Amino acid sequence: MDLKALIRDVPDFPKPGIMYRDITTLLKNSEGLSYTLDQMAAKATELAPDVIVGIESRGFIFGMPLAYKLGKSFAPVRKSGKLPAPVHAISYDLEYGQDRLEVHQDAFTAGSRVLIVDDLLATGGTAAATAQLIQQMGAEIAGFSFVIELAGLQGRQKLPGQASVSSLVVY
Ligand code: AMP
Repeated sequence: MDLKALIRDVPDFPKPGIMYRDITTLLKNSEGLSYTLDQMAAKATELAPDVIVGIESRGFIFGMPLAYKLGKSFAPVRKSGKLPAPVHAISYDLEYGQDRLEVHQDAFTAGSRVLIVDDLLATGGTAAATAQLIQQMGAEIAGFSFVIELAGLQGRQKLPGQASVSSLVVY
């Protein structure tokens, strides 16, 4: 299936010069949505994760149904101040300034195999920070699953070297 045809390109959003890859047009196509989750599930099954971690917010859209399909648990990684119970946190650099991600301390146990899910891999900063956070908690990175990869930004190079990285659509 041609997933690229279902992804809407929005030039100059959220700021001039950015080509925004909008997955809402993919979500609204029921066949495209099923195909996307089936493909992600097929790749994820090989990695035998114990837990799926979704990165706020579009990582939740794909990560949660993936966890359900695999019969595994799901843990959200959220922006600062959103999670109610004690958290582990990590700060990471953005183009301008810093951001902070958090996960509940009891989201998974040390030694768990964690699959990290987001809609899109761009510079890799967000996914790399999430991986670092998970590793600091004593869990293992089973791999990364993205719907979209912007290959020109070489985000893969920021991710842990031995980890499996899969993406369904590459720009
Ligand atoms: P990065 O940390 O640079 O890999 O950025 C990844 C995050 O930013 C993901 O959660 C994406 O949803 C979002 N993102 C970055 N670039 C784009 C883009 N061109 N279109 C849509 N989302 C983007």
